[in-house]
Amino acid sequence: MRNNEYSTSLTVQDFRDRLAGVNGRIAAAATASGRSPSEVRLIPVSKTVSEDRIRLAVEAGCTVLGENKVQEMTRKAQAMEDLDVSWLLIGHLQTNKARDAAAYAAEFHALDSLRLAAALDRRLQGAGRSLDVFVQVNTSGEESKFGLAPEDLPDFLEALPSFETLRVRGLMTLAALTPDRDRVRSCFALLRTLRDQARENNPDLIGPGELSMGMSGDYELAIEQGATSVRVGQAIFGARAVPDSHYWPPA
Ligand SMILES: *Cc1c(COP(=O)(O)O)cnc(C)c1O
Repeated sequence: MRNNEYSTSLTVQDFRDRLAGVNGRIAAAATASGRSPSEVRLIPVSKTVSEDRIRLAVEAGCTVLGENKVQEMTRKAQAMEDLDVSWLLIGHLQTNKARDAAAYAAEFHALDSLRLAAALDRRLQGAGRSLDVFVQVNTSGEESKFGLAPEDLPDFLEALPSFETLRVRGLMTLAALTPDRDRVRSCFALLRTLRDQARENNPDLIGPGELSMGMSGDYELAIEQGATSVRVGQAIFGARAVPDSHYWPPA
């Protein structure tokens, strides 16, 4: 689907309708794959969305919100401290911004270096907190995507237990940005295979082995391939003016 086909949600009722629509499609995709809809969690992604519309979305039932950039997440978390909502950081994080992530994120979905793991661990120790993390893997081979190369995952998982504040929940990926559904499906299938191999090697290193994958344009395919969390922005909030290249800069 093209970005401009997502119209902007402006009222609580708009958000209720959108959330019901997406949840319905999630349930149908899960059932079609012989899975229970309750195995799939919807993470609404509120990046670039203003505080007033986020408040409407929360009123409509959102209890977790995904943000790509830590500065934006921090600003919003501080401005909306009165809301009962958890902020999930789903985008690339620079080591020098680990402190805000450690302070405000309930989950981090883009862990992709040991340097970053060390920086987060140090900040979390200081804050007396722990953090649920997903290891990001580059399953598309596109240079513009962040994440570990698939072959680097086993050693990476071996090294993580030394960071005591990080609780591994599973793996995360972004599929190739292409209308070719087979190509998108193969990215998701690769993440599931990597999770299965990790479990076989040493189940202690992969925690519950969750799979964070799927966005507005491809979440049904991701569910077919085993997604346990889908990260959906535009299909709930409306099209973004900011192009995706802002989040996944060309190499
Ligand atoms: C923006 C974003 C999404 C959601 O993308 P939509 O096209 O808005 O559904 C998912 N994952 C990450 C990492 C994102 O930055």
